[in-house]
Amino acid sequence: GSVFGHLARAPEDPILGVTVAYNKDPSPVKLNLGVGAYRTEEGKPLVLNVVRRAEQTLVNDSSRVKEYLPIVGLADFNKLSAKLIFGADSGINIVKQQVIESSNVFSSRNHVICCRDASYCLILCSPAIQENRVTTVQCLSGTGSLRVGAEFLAKHYHQRTIYIPMPTWGNHPKVFTLAGLSVKTYRYYDPATRGLNFQGLNLSCFLHLHGLLEDLGSAPSGAIVLLHACAHNPTGVDPTLGQWAQIRQLMRSKGLLPFFDSAYQGFASGNLDEDAQSVRMFVADGGECLVAQSYAKNMGLYGERVGALSSVCKTADVASRVESQLKLVIRPMYSNPPIHGASIVATILKDRNMFHYWTIELKAMADRIISMRQQLFDALRSRGTPGDWSHIIKQIGMFTFTGLNSEQVTFMTKEYHIYMTSDGRISMAGLSSRTIPHLADAIHAAVT
Ligand code: PLP
Repeated sequence: GSVFGHLARAPEDPILGVTVAYNKDPSPVKLNLGVGAYRTEEGKPLVLNVVRRAEQTLVNDSSRVKEYLPIVGLADFNKLSAKLIFGADSGINIVKQQVIESSNVFSSRNHVICCRDASYCLILCSPAIQENRVTTVQCLSGTGSLRVGAEFLAKHYHQRTIYIPMPTWGNHPKVFTLAGLSVKTYRYYDPATRGLNFQGLNLSCFLHLHGLLEDLGSAPSGAIVLLHACAHNPTGVDPTLGQWAQIRQLMRSKGLLPFFDSAYQGFASGNLDEDAQSVRMFVADGGECLVAQSYAKNMGLYGERVGALSSVCKTADVASRVESQLKLVIRPMYSNPPIHGASIVATILKDRNMFHYWTIELKAMADRIISMRQQLFDALRSRGTPGDWSHIIKQIGMFTFTGLNSEQVTFMTKEYHIYMTSDGRISMAGLSSRTIPHLADAIHAAVT
């Protein structure tokens, strides 16, 4: 018998397993809304033109070799990735509609920043980079960046508890648990409002506030908190800038350590700076945080596995010691990261024209997703589908958290060959004008 004969068959991954089931279905009308990858209006995967151009540049450069990268990856890539998420290393913040409201104003060493709901300022530059307080290491896309950050924290940080939102991306609990952190959740989504459970009023006990603020408020001092920088997966619900300001205030007052997961920068609003505002708010106050970045979605580099982990520290000296320890985490895991994807990203980020071209292609992807939201909403309205579907147009990013339950999802898969995760999450990027009527018919039948 085999030495592995005792093994039970493991279940499929709840997200990637949707595609496995989809691939087995012979129906010509089948629709895969499970996996979070962008598709064109024709339902095809998209390689950005700017990526093709960057690859051409790389191929034509005969001085390029295939030597190992350093443990921390490509230096240019790391520097430019930090600038992308934290803002330029010099310059003045452009203040849009400045509103001074004392509770939300705070000053960093270089800037006064104020944030309020509808009127806000855009933070475009980063004192932390100017002051060399940021260390960035290239990792294997978003997942790898989260894992390296988690391994580092489990080894060197005094608080091993990480709070993740409820719900969150299905891989988060596993990544953090296997790295040796203890995972707890904080309330995030309110099914009743299909919005953020920020500090909803508990009706059974009138004055008692609950929700996200209460849960973070009662977390032990120093605990790590995982925050989705924008386009929360799976709910598509993000805090407003005013709510971010309150979250920041609370977390800093309790010494909670922010660990941002930035997998969708530019995908939510179509604007790279706007989607980085949550992160920049936490950096502008001078405090510390970690950020995991992915180029899977915003550059369409899914299979190239290119991402970065940054640690913003109090001083340049601490940042360089953190980097030295990150190298000890990375070396025994995979030695050093792959060269191709990071070279593509660095080529695009350092060339003004290519960068500009990228922002246009990125905005086109974001806009197509936003238009799919509107079209699906209109299709349900025109069918008179019972229920309030306005969350479809209110939610942000790649996914809509439809509110469909697992029986309804099973029904739609069985009767309409539509595949999605059992929590009712659909990838808007997998839709097109052609397939929306079929989906709207299926939802209509599922809820009536
Ligand atoms: N974090 C979130 C919230 C995600 O949705 C994803 C991808 O779906 C990732 C991280 C990691 O993706 P990747 O490892 O492909 O960059």
